[in-house]
Amino acid sequence: MSDLPSTTEVLIIGGGVMGVSTAYHLALRGVKDIVLLERGPFFGQGATGKCAGGIRHQFATEVNIRLSLASLKMLSNFEAETGQAIDLRWCGYLFLLTREEDVAAFHRNVALQRSLGVMTEWLTGDEARRRIPLIHALSVRTRKPYVVLRKNYKPYMGETVQAETLSITTGAPQTLHLDEKDHDLVKEKRVVLVDDVISTGSTLQGMRLVLQKAGARVVAESAIFTEGERAQWENIVALGHLPVFTG
Ligand SMILES: Cc1cc2nc3c(=O)[nH]c(=O)nc-3n(C[C@H](O)[C@H](O)[C@H](O)COP(=O)(O)OP(=O)(O)OC[C@H]3O[C@@H](n4cnc5c(N)ncnc54)[C@H](O)[C@@H]3O)c2cc1C
Repeated sequence: MSDLPSTTEVLIIGGGVMGVSTAYHLALRGVKDIVLLERGPFFGQGATGKCAGGIRHQFATEVNIRLSLASLKMLSNFEAETGQAIDLRWCGYLFLLTREEDVAAFHRNVALQRSLGVMTEWLTGDEARRRIPLIHALSVRTRKPYVVLRKNYKPYMGETVQAETLSITTGAPQTLHLDEKDHDLVKEKRVVLVDDVISTGSTLQGMRLVLQKAGARVVAESAIFTEGERAQWENIVALGHLPVFTG
């Protein structure tokens, strides 16, 4: 205690994430006279040390959503800014509602989030079952991270890496996007493409282009099923080939 200064411009009590972050951001803004007091033997022994490390946008109040927008931006740049790797994974954040009485409040929250530029998606049970499990299960099994290419641009994706492809359902051109935040995750990495059903191969071609532009090396291509001309898909790792009935 004798080493402590008797006066200071800023006194912060508590060496958890809030106290340390406050000290850091004040220092960044040029404040030099800061004392941080922690009663424990080490920093981060409170809630900060117990935290699961999940990050998300989906909050219920404007202030929290705005804070998450600012902090997620900082976290995506954390290693470059501080030199400390944080093993950040953009794997998404899914809330499963199991009680009818929560639905209205979550609808209100989603509307608020979207009004602030967070394009949270509302999935029905079937959509969640269809969209989440395969890639998640692969990731859990292989212990490798995954990124999802999107067919619609959302403002939170930043400067995406893009490629145009032709939609098999509408015949119209569509653009595939790699979220700016996912770019570093694939850059100079060996990646495996995973599609659901490969039919004309135009989405696959779009995926290849996006990954190529992002500096990744595609080492394998896979799908649940292929369809159409079987010989065309010899190099695709798939569970099976679907016949196409045209008559
Ligand atoms: C189990 C668990 C899981 C969590 N998971 C997540 C998650 O996934 N995502 C998320 O965003 N948040 C999560 N949280 C919440 C998150 O951890 C807290 O919101 C955050 O760590 C709070 O930081 P803090 O600095 O305010 O508090 P703390 O980390 O508790 O820090 C307060 C510090 O102040 C010190 N202190 C207290 N009184 C004094 C005093 N009089 N003098 C000196 N020092 C004092 C304490 O020793 C402590 O070190 C989780 C919390 C818990 C408990």
